Amino acid sequence: MPNMRVVQVARPKGPLELAEREIPEPNAGQVRIKVHACGVCHSDSVTKEGLLPNIAYPRVPGHEVIGTIDAVGPAVPGWRPGQRVGVGWHGGNCGYCDACRGGDAFACETETLVTGVTHDGGYAEYMIAPATALARVPDDLSAVEAAPLMCAGITTFNALRNSGARPGETVAVLGIGGLGHLGVQFAVKMGFRTVAIARGEDKAPLARKLGAHHYIDSAAEDPAAALQKLGGARVILATAASGAAMNAVQGGLGIRGTLLIVGVPDSLNINPLPLIFGSRSVQGWYSGTSIDSQQTLAFSALTGVRSMNEFYPLARAPEAYDRMMSGRARFRVVLTMGE
Ligand SMILES: [Zn+2]
Ligand SMILES: [Zn+2]
Repeated sequence: MPNMRVVQVARPKGPLELAEREIPEPNAGQVRIKVHACGVCHSDSVTKEGLLPNIAYPRVPGHEVIGTIDAVGPAVPGWRPGQRVGVGWHGGNCGYCDACRGGDAFACETETLVTGVTHDGGYAEYMIAPATALARVPDDLSAVEAAPLMCAGITTFNALRNSGARPGETVAVLGIGGLGHLGVQFAVKMGFRTVAIARGEDKAPLARKLGAHHYIDSAAEDPAAALQKLGGARVILATAASGAAMNAVQGGLGIRGTLLIVGVPDSLNINPLPLIFGSRSVQGWYSGTSIDSQQTLAFSALTGVRSMNEFYPLARAPEAYDRMMSGRARFRVVLTMGE
């Protein structure tokens, strides 16, 4: 079998390193994907830094994968070589546990598979994926356009569409970075009155370009008061990984409003009185499963939602990772495999 190039982490906190491996064969229930592009996500630090127990090293990170099925293992109905597919954080599910049968496959109890964490991911020319992790990719989305939608996209899209907000209601997006610049676009295309919140007047043109109807500069004014002036938010999608920023906006929720958390702050202070007296809530949202990814891609192709990306070839993955971790990328970083 010929070899492939991968970028792996040999030990927790070790460097990302280019390596050669044999191209693997898919087992039952799995396919092999020829990877075309893979997004670089902050959650890749889970593998790089060893933030979860029992990660087996060396491990190939990467959970924003777009490619083409290249080989199909036994017992994989419905998929064939040549189909374009995506794989996200959700690395597959069993289909028979109580959570799966209850429609909560994201919380599968028997196989907590995470792409690039429990098995090798997309910083590679080829990867193996369970068929339950596959999303179909529309023809009119390129691999590099689609890759960041497999994590940053699905997370914001799926949170917003399940938020309970209805068209015309006010939805605020806190932060307009990697997650938030997609969240604003999705909120606009879903028909919400969309408010972007970030620090600095210099972000106002970006917010407008993304389609936001209002922009709140939280460095210049109290974002909670500004939201209340707009009538209060039905939903605040918190994408910025800042507890202080989340604390500052919670007072902007309208009656029955929800602070919907997808960014990961170190800690969070919630004032319980407005929750009680306004029946408000604080909720987290898991990104989603393969069908949610597929619907994210389809919606993005249909409505023109696109990630803004910086590109690096696979061999420069360490540089790409550092760029993403610096927080200065505008806005997602994508590895391309090339030939
Ligand atoms: Zn991610
Ligand atoms: Zn299950």
